[in-house]
Amino acid sequence: MFVRVAINIPSEKTFLYAVPEALKEGITVGKRVFIPFGKRRLIGYIIEKTSATTCENIDTKEIISILDTEPLFNEDDLRFYQWVSHYYIHPLGKTLAEILPGDKVIPKKEKIITLNLEDTPPLKLTEKQDKIINFLKLRGKTIPLSIISQTFKNASSLIKSLERKGLIFVSEKEVWRSVGVTSDIGKNDRHIVLNENQKTALEEIMKGLSSGRFSTYLLHGVTGSGKTEVYLKAMEETLRLKGGVIFLVPEIALTPQLLSRLNGRFQDHKIAALHSGISRNVRYDQWRRIQRGEITVVAGARSALFAPVRNLKLIIVDEEHDTSYKQEDRLRYNARDLAIVKAKLNSALVILGSATPEIQSYFNARVKKYNYLSLPERVENRPLPQVDVIDMKGERDERGKVPVLSRSLKDAIHDALKEGKQTLLFLNRRGYSTFMLCLECGHVFKCPNCAVSMTYHAHPGVLQCHYCDYAIKAPPLCPGCHGSRIVSYGMGTERVEEEVKNIFSHARIGRMDSDTTARKGAYERILSTLHRQDIDILVGTQMITKGHDFPAITLVGVISADTSLNIPDFRAAERTFQLLTQVSGRGGRGDSPARVIVQTFNPGHYSIRRAKDHDCSGFYEDELPLRKALLYPPFSRIVVLHLQSLKKDRGMKGIENLRKTMGDLFRINNLAGKVEVIGPAEAPIARIRGRYRWQLLLKAKDIRILHTLTRDLLARFKRGGLDIRVDVDPVNFM
Ligand code: ADP
Ligand code: ZN
Repeated sequence: MFVRVAINIPSEKTFLYAVPEALKEGITVGKRVFIPFGKRRLIGYIIEKTSATTCENIDTKEIISILDTEPLFNEDDLRFYQWVSHYYIHPLGKTLAEILPGDKVIPKKEKIITLNLEDTPPLKLTEKQDKIINFLKLRGKTIPLSIISQTFKNASSLIKSLERKGLIFVSEKEVWRSVGVTSDIGKNDRHIVLNENQKTALEEIMKGLSSGRFSTYLLHGVTGSGKTEVYLKAMEETLRLKGGVIFLVPEIALTPQLLSRLNGRFQDHKIAALHSGISRNVRYDQWRRIQRGEITVVAGARSALFAPVRNLKLIIVDEEHDTSYKQEDRLRYNARDLAIVKAKLNSALVILGSATPEIQSYFNARVKKYNYLSLPERVENRPLPQVDVIDMKGERDERGKVPVLSRSLKDAIHDALKEGKQTLLFLNRRGYSTFMLCLECGHVFKCPNCAVSMTYHAHPGVLQCHYCDYAIKAPPLCPGCHGSRIVSYGMGTERVEEEVKNIFSHARIGRMDSDTTARKGAYERILSTLHRQDIDILVGTQMITKGHDFPAITLVGVISADTSLNIPDFRAAERTFQLLTQVSGRGGRGDSPARVIVQTFNPGHYSIRRAKDHDCSGFYEDELPLRKALLYPPFSRIVVLHLQSLKKDRGMKGIENLRKTMGDLFRINNLAGKVEVIGPAEAPIARIRGRYRWQLLLKAKDIRILHTLTRDLLARFKRGGLDIRVDVDPVNFM
């Protein structure tokens, strides 16, 4: 017997190993094995079992041992993992190492004691032995040793002697490690009656569920339209049909909320949480229970999609537009896209839900690849907030500078405070200022490892790099000329907080960004003070825009809509529109309507105008022609190669070589006119953590051409010290 194994090494190859007689019985696809590999011993994943004698290499080595008592995936799961590996051009062994739980987690076992006796023991027992027998009779005959140990000293040796006498059995049972449900933010909302729009959407989904066929639904519902309620009803139906469910949310931080809501709602079902914040032990245990079909509901962040859920019938992707579904290192996948692939392989349903669907998803709905479901109104006829756009070009403070808060925003905060309502102030940048400059000699404080300026954080009084975390104490004098006229430009959340404190000295002010939430529990603490209305004004980064539901927020201020508009990405307008709409949506969820004030230097930009009017389809009508003209997704597919080198000259040589290889491939394969190449050129941030960076962007209509070109490119060119990462984006799959 032979097995084919995938190994966690940077190679597309898989390897054949012989199975020694003694290990044959335990061989199953999906288990991990220990194997000799060159001079090393490595872990491999069994992906095929074969008795064939036509093996390419008869002289194969033998596997050393089998690591798992039960498989981590079956052949159907493997098909999906292979698809992922192929599509994202990431070796199968590396893909599996990324997806599957921990390397040496050992199941946790406990001893179970069972009484083997009907009435009085036939033998004479010591007093202590007698007590244990009585204890067992009283407590139901089968109990874990750990329980006996709580009552009796020396329980293990007493049990051993009783076992020798044949009065009890000792067996072993696996103890499942799991996470406790801690949050009480989710509420008990069992008795909601769906409104007409929700009903219509649900009916469509029900039709899909009963058909048993693959289909994708785009649930486009404005913020507060009750999308979650539709998901939960669809889940109910799926569980009734004995189907499995995966429920994805964009952030780990949102999973406790989701879990408590799901646990409250589906009390008869075991629910597993899977995300990168779960310990390896727990992940391994939950994974195997999912694989066995003992747990049928999995909730979590992007990695939960890989869980081997049995009889999978429904995948929910909440806030499907969210960029956290994209993993940006190692295996660069997008869980939203893969949800559709996985559903197709399983003949399951996918619901993509959002108030601001990704252009790609919207486009797919328009061309009827997805079923479009709409919830155009908020529940209980609550109005959408009124959005005012303030042109900051016309705003000046007493010193003639652009103020942090415009007059309108100041007035509105004032009114909200007077009425006892809450205000959210949003700025997508943390720290105090974005860069510091010496006015005497022009010295700019830059990170020594990265090609960026350092951000000033007033509170510990440091200059910090947001890319590598390098930090120094902010010097009082310029290190270049010893001058003292150091000024800072650009602002972050700390600065906004300070300004708000100066103006509204009696208000209770909080700040939520990755600096204030770094400590465990801090995030939940801030949210619950906001919930209890112990905060009047909360300043924060995009962390505050996601998923929360706070009834007393009636004012949302966007300090600068321009931060996301100016990023060098073809999706900048889309991101800005999404961000503004999402952050506006945080307001007015209670009985009072909300107001949103957006400050910008680009009041005429279509992303801002459309967000002001809550006009999603208008935004798509503006954006789609631009994408089409420049041949960007959804009108093309893109592969980006990220190239890095610690040595600049070696990197440059690698880049030269890449350019040449690319030219060769273009000629050989006649690619002119079929593939558009941008670069290789310096990345927008030319150095991070000491590594010089370049990028190469390939665009084409046909993904197969891009796949082939990228593989050929990787195979042919001499790297010369260059490290290459491939980003294939997006999956345009139906
Ligand atoms: P979304 O996900 O679309 O932003 P949610 O599903 O979180 O909206 O719903 C917003 C709020 O409205 C929640 O508090 C939810 O319990 C409530 N809700 C949902 N559906 C209804 C309904 N039909 N009637 C009354 N309240 C509802
Ligand atoms: Zn740095």
